[in-house]
Amino acid sequence: MKRYSAFAIAKEALRQHVGWTRAWGNPEPKKRYDVIIIGAGGHGLATAYFLGKNFGITNVAVLEKGWLGGGNTGRNTTIIRSNYLQDPSAAIYEKSRSLYETMSQDLNYNVMFSPRGVLMLAQTQHEIRGYKRTAHANALQGVETRWIEPAEVKEICPIMNIDGPRYPVLGGLWQARGGTARHDAVAWGYARACSDMGMDIIQQCEVTGVTTSAGNVTGVNTTRGDIACDKLGMVVAGHASHVANMAGFQLPIESVALQALVSEPIKPCMDIVVMANTVHGYMSQSDKGEMVIGGGTDGYNNYTQRGSFHHIEETVRALVETFPMIARLKMLRQWGGIVDVTGDRSPILSKTPVEGVFVNCGWGTGGFKAIPGSGWAMAELMAKGHSPLTEEFDMNRFGRGKFIDESVAAGVAH
Ligand SMILES: Cc1cc2nc3c(=O)[nH]c(=O)nc-3n(C[C@H](O)[C@H](O)[C@H](O)COP(=O)(O)OP(=O)(O)OC[C@H]3O[C@@H](n4cnc5c(N)ncnc54)[C@H](O)[C@@H]3O)c2cc1C
Repeated sequence: MKRYSAFAIAKEALRQHVGWTRAWGNPEPKKRYDVIIIGAGGHGLATAYFLGKNFGITNVAVLEKGWLGGGNTGRNTTIIRSNYLQDPSAAIYEKSRSLYETMSQDLNYNVMFSPRGVLMLAQTQHEIRGYKRTAHANALQGVETRWIEPAEVKEICPIMNIDGPRYPVLGGLWQARGGTARHDAVAWGYARACSDMGMDIIQQCEVTGVTTSAGNVTGVNTTRGDIACDKLGMVVAGHASHVANMAGFQLPIESVALQALVSEPIKPCMDIVVMANTVHGYMSQSDKGEMVIGGGTDGYNNYTQRGSFHHIEETVRALVETFPMIARLKMLRQWGGIVDVTGDRSPILSKTPVEGVFVNCGWGTGGFKAIPGSGWAMAELMAKGHSPLTEEFDMNRFGRGKFIDESVAAGVAH
């Protein structure tokens, strides 16, 4: 694969850019692979990448029913942070955040990681207590966050009205190395690196069945024929229950629509990410100048990939109180994705009742930030049968009552 560099760009500029090669291939499926990953979202592609990079397993196919990165990975608002409460969460999310720091260099692909800082606003007494507790927990976990007072909130984000009539800003949880990255680029960068290692990324290839023999996985049925494999990773987010059913087991997952919107582009006015969990909205400004705004999930299960209109109204109404200057902005577009939510708001990275089948799902409204860490851990789990990062996230924890409760950190999207 041709390396991207300033020198390569200059060289190609001199010869009308005819020397670039395809970023990833468009192969026909083979009859058999060592490992098949279902789902070419960020988590599926990162899993494949680390199987190759960390364990030398490259006879791998990633099967995608649509186009790569076309699921939630290409639909999210790209917030990256690791300020969770519980130790297992802090471990995997901080691993992930740290991998984002060097992702562009590791993949030789600019993912535009922007550690601009993430601020979670406290607008009730309850939130003050909750976020101070999280800041203390993060200090013990080695995750850099701190509690800040209203005056510093105003200094960091001058466009904010901290004296709102209903919910004045009482402080916030600040993670200076949190931020954003370009979501498509994360999927494309991993796809390019996987393809370079000889893996097959097969788009327009829907998995319709899972085949087993004596409790072991033997392969999958797809819209492009049957394919055999030794190990199978299900990494399909909102479609996790559906695909698990194909292998004959159930998952404690609810699938709901989550949506976001962007405003028309405006001049730079906000260089951090702000989340306001009490009023339920969050906002950042994209490099193009659009205000990127997100809210909560639909209150009922569905697979529409659209979201309902009343949520947009609620989200914007909530944010206008804290950011009065957005009141006159026009909305440019709105979209939705189907997220996979568990009862304790923590993910599932687990072996399953079928030998050789592994599942990675339940990232709900906040899995973009976890892509590299999840891929790293899932690859270890699939290659070695265990990973210190996934131990607590197994699917049977619900039966044992051993929840990893992140309802404060993840109760609001993201
Ligand atoms: C509006 C919105 C905003 C969000 N904001 C944030 C945020 O700010 N920060 C954050 O951290 N997270 C956020 N998230 C959550 C984040 O997007 C997801 O957790 C993450 O992208 C999940 O990645 P994935 O690879 O698991 O799933 P996906 O990207 O959804 O990939 C799964 C893939 O599996 C494919 N698939 C499904 N069934 C089959 C089948 N039978 N055969 C083959 N392929 C199949 C799908 O087509 C899809 O491409 C947001 C989500 C949404 C919808």
